[in-house]
Amino acid sequence: METKDISLASISEDLAKEQAAYDFLEAIRWPNGPVCPHCGTINHAYHLKPKSSEGRKTRTGAITFRKVWKCGACRKQFTVTVGTCMERSKIPLRKWVMAFHMLSASKNGVSSHELGRQLQISHESAWFLSQRIRYAFSDPIPSGQLSGTVEADETYVGGKRKHIPGVSHTDLKVPVVTLVERGGKVRSKVLPTVTSKNIKAHLQAHVSPDAALMTDQSRLYNQAGQGFASHETVDHARDEWVRGKAHVNTAEGFFSQLKRSLDGTHHHVSPRHLHRYVGEFDFRYNTRKVKDGERTALAIRRSAGKRLMYQQVTKRPQQ
Ligand SMILES: [Zn+2]
Repeated sequence: METKDISLASISEDLAKEQAAYDFLEAIRWPNGPVCPHCGTINHAYHLKPKSSEGRKTRTGAITFRKVWKCGACRKQFTVTVGTCMERSKIPLRKWVMAFHMLSASKNGVSSHELGRQLQISHESAWFLSQRIRYAFSDPIPSGQLSGTVEADETYVGGKRKHIPGVSHTDLKVPVVTLVERGGKVRSKVLPTVTSKNIKAHLQAHVSPDAALMTDQSRLYNQAGQGFASHETVDHARDEWVRGKAHVNTAEGFFSQLKRSLDGTHHHVSPRHLHRYVGEFDFRYNTRKVKDGERTALAIRRSAGKRLMYQQVTKRPQQ
């Protein structure tokens, strides 16, 4: 199956056998031959073939079709899932690929209830699986800075469920700041609170000094907007949305899609998981020009080095 042909139908037909799913992932992750995750040696490993077509027995006696390699350099064993978010998962690889595809291809995201129903796994498994895939989508160290015309804007999401005495509901909303290069990429970040200082830091990290910056007239950007080639603003408070080329409509379009997904698909996302959902939206936006199958393959490649443990996802922040 070529990456451009990836679809739910082709996954269920072509990857029905677990061995085929391993071959598929290996072709995506290792175009130049197996890469040992222990020592980094490329294409110097031996496939440990099972003794029969019945698969291999694990230590507990269960049958597995895991495709195991032995490194010719360090002699250690590995499979294509080692070091990825799929490592040691009990969910069949075919279902992982389906989930990668569903989350890559859907404009408004996929709820874990929907994912559980489609993959026939428990809601809890589906929830954790989708968190791991969102984490795989993320690009922790994006290369280069945004340039040209860059819009910066912030929005507030969530904050409906809890009621803490003395704290208004809106206070519990979580700020998300986004920077979007017109015709280019987006970089969003969930912040505990928005201040001129952390907006400035986010801008300086991700926007080239020769960019033309566009924001609304929020005071947050007064200082943060300095240090760029130009800084134009529109005054939303006075119902001014576009003046010449000055507007933040691209950023607002991004936010409205994000909110549609958070409200319509997921209904409620806890502030402590929000960054992963925002990362998912950045990923789909930044790969909007490629086909769904290519986006799926890219996401699978990005799963390397992204093992996310259940405890990491579910642990509560220190009070
Ligand atoms: Zn090795």
